[in-house]
Formats: sequence, structure tokens, C-alpha cells
Amino acid sequence: MLSGFNYHQPTALRFGAGRVNEVGGEVARFGTRCLLVTAKAWPGVEPLYDRVLASIREAGVEVWHFDEVPPNPTTETIARGAAVAKARRVDVVLALGGGSSMDSAKAIAVEATHPGGAWDYLFYKSPQPDSRTLPVVAVTTTSGTGSHVTQVAVITHPDRRDKSALYNALLFPRAAIVDPELMLSVPPHLTAATGFDAFTHAFESVLHCGGSPYTGLLALEAIRLIVSNLPRAIADGRDLEARTAMAWADTLAGLSIASAGVSLPHGIGMAIGGMFPHVMHGEALAVVYPAVMRHTWRADVSRFARLARAVDPAGRSTTPESDAERCVDAIESFLDRIGMRLTLAGLRVPVEELPALARQSLVLPDYKNHPKVVDIDEVEAILAESFGGRVDQPLPESA
Ligand code: NAD
Repeated sequence: MLSGFNYHQPTALRFGAGRVNEVGGEVARFGTRCLLVTAKAWPGVEPLYDRVLASIREAGVEVWHFDEVPPNPTTETIARGAAVAKARRVDVVLALGGGSSMDSAKAIAVEATHPGGAWDYLFYKSPQPDSRTLPVVAVTTTSGTGSHVTQVAVITHPDRRDKSALYNALLFPRAAIVDPELMLSVPPHLTAATGFDAFTHAFESVLHCGGSPYTGLLALEAIRLIVSNLPRAIADGRDLEARTAMAWADTLAGLSIASAGVSLPHGIGMAIGGMFPHVMHGEALAVVYPAVMRHTWRADVSRFARLARAVDPAGRSTTPESDAERCVDAIESFLDRIGMRLTLAGLRVPVEELPALARQSLVLPDYKNHPKVVDIDEVEAILAESFGGRVDQPLPESA
């Protein structure tokens, strides 16, 4: 029997090739002074920046460009962006870029309008951001984070080596433009890492205890699209059909996590990103996925079996148990196909940091939403398996 559930999604979606030309009109709905938030220019992006700035000005909106967003944005970046937003008294923040730019825009929208810094408004703190929060418009240029349709802003506190999140319905972008033509320039490894991030959102939405039939529909369709289109987008970045399918899958997966959420792999992945910011978010997830699957599939045979059938539709088995167990192989062979079979050693995570990393992996509550709620010993085992090479001695005490 269908049980009750909630679903909420306030973001106006503008999806399709060429839709970036509508950005000026979307921004003008929210005021006449705009802060454009982006990463430093990547090769070939200047014409896009110019096109977006021109579209905003043509709509009668004044615009200032803050282009200092690094991957895994920090509290310092947010403070610098918020200072510009305050000084210019902007009405609206426009993000153009990947998750780092979109999350920075959301955090700037809070820090520019509230006492203290964005870090003071993390999901578990009080008070929470209020209606002073500036409206955000998002134009995504990667297919991975779904941030254009979520209420989440992930930021890192470098001194604490802590990656955490603001989570508030006021942070849903008011409008999101998803133009797959903007993703044609994403290089192969970034395509793989971001595409796997979208995959994990869909996958973990199905595992999440707050998932619903609605998010299940969105998530399974996202997995189906990603499994068939991500290898194509990696092989030929100019394949607009594959890029379009990935942009749609990323959006579906983002819609899923906005109403369901993520689970254990994200708890560990966020800890990796906070302690080792050189590791891309999608890499941090890929490196632990096989071990997490091995340690936890038995806890919910029916969900893992459903996921195995979605990831590898050709490989149906005879019993739900064998299907569920097949999830491990299905994930490993998918990671092989997209060149994302990684090790913590290969990602330059020092073995002596593993105990601290294990402790940090249980700081965010994500692990409690996984079918199996692991303890510190099991996280250490997962990290040891993900390290690569042999870590068969007890892990050393961290400094
Ligand atoms: P990113 O935004 O960090 O971008 C990485 C780099 O890719 C950029 O510096 C830029 O140089 C380059 N780039 C971006 N678009 C490009 C394009 N079209 N062509 C060529 N190069 C391009 O990467 P991301 O994976 O999109 O975002 C990661 C961040 O998002 C992490 O901090 C992660 O934790 C966060 N995240 C947020 C949510 C959410 O719901 N808010 C969900 C998942 C992840």
C-alpha cells in the first residue's frame, strides 16, 4: 500500500539547448542589481561570460562579476563574494557554473543579508536564514550536483578541515536554466566525476529512508539515463544528445535528493572533500562506492536488487539476494566503464589520516539514512578497503 510522503520543488525550470539566452529576463524578475558568481575563466568560457553579462544588461539590470570561486568553495570565498554583494546592494545573485559556483551563490545570498558568516547558518544551527536571503538564479554548466534544483549549499571551512552544508528551503534557486550546450566543453575526467556524482544522488535517493514513490521514479529514470549516456559523453564531449540526456538525468537526480536525500557514501565523501580539498566531489564518492556496497547490501535486499537491475538491466539473476549482491559487481563494472575505479592512495590521501577520516565520516547525519547504520569500525574497514594496496594492519592513530 502507498504510504504518505512529502514532495516540494519551487524552482522554475528552463531546460533546453540555447536557453541560456533567457538569463537576462529571468534575473530581471528579481531586481535591477545583480551579482554574477562564477569560477575563474576556464579555457574557452569567456564568450559565455560575455554573452551572459550582455543578456543581463540588455534586460536593464546592473551586474557585477565575482569570479573567484574555487572547486570545493571555502568560507573565505563566500566572505569575499558577500562583501561585494553588500557593497553593491544587489537584489539577486546569479550563479553560472558547476556546483561550486551555485553553492557559493546560495551561501553569498545568506551571508550578504544576515549577521555573521554563512558558516553560522549550517543546517543544524539556529537561527536559520530568513526571508532577507537574496533570491538566487542558477545556470548550471556541469551535469553532476543537481544544485540548480536543491536547497543545499555545500561549503568548506579550511581551518577546521570540515565540509558541511546550509540546507534551507529559501536556498532553492528561484529559476534554473539547464542548457546542455554549456556542457559540451567539460573535459572527459570532469564529465566522468560529475556524472558519477549525479548517479550517486539517484542511487542514494532510492536507498534513503526518506525516499518516496515520487523520488523513486525520478531516481530510477536518472540511473537509466546515466548508465547509457555517461560513457558516450565521456567518449565524445561534443555529443549533444548524450549531454542533453546527462543534463536531464542530473536534474532528475537533484530533484530526488531535494525531497529524499543522500546516505552513507556522501557522509564519507564529504569528509574526504573537507580534509583533502584537492579531491573532486565525484572522485570522493567513486572511491568508496564499491566498499560501501560490499558492506551494506545485505541490509536491504529489495532496494539493492532494484538498483542492481537499474544499473545493469541485462544481468538479471534468479533471486532477490543474488540480484542485490550483484549490485557490487554492477557498480564496479560501471566505474570501470567510466574510468573512475579509484583508490584513496591514488587520490593522495595519506594512510595515517584514515582514522581521523573515519571519525569525520560520521559527523554529518547522512550515514543514519543508509539501510545499514555503520559504526566507526566498519567505516574504518570501508576506508581500508578503499585505500588500495593492502592495509591489513590495524590503522595507526592519527596525529
Ligand atoms: P565545480 O563547480 O567545482 O567545477 C569544477 C571545475 O570545472 C571548475 O573550476 C571549472 O573550472 C570547471 N568547469 C565547470 N563547468 C565547466 C564547463 N562547462 N566546461 C569546462 N570546465 C568547466 O564542480 P561540480 O562537480 O559541479 O561541483 C562540486 C561542488 O558541488 C562540491 O563542492 C560539491 O560538494 C557540491 N555539491 C553540491 C550539491 C548541492 O545540492 N548543492 C550536490 C552535490 C555536490
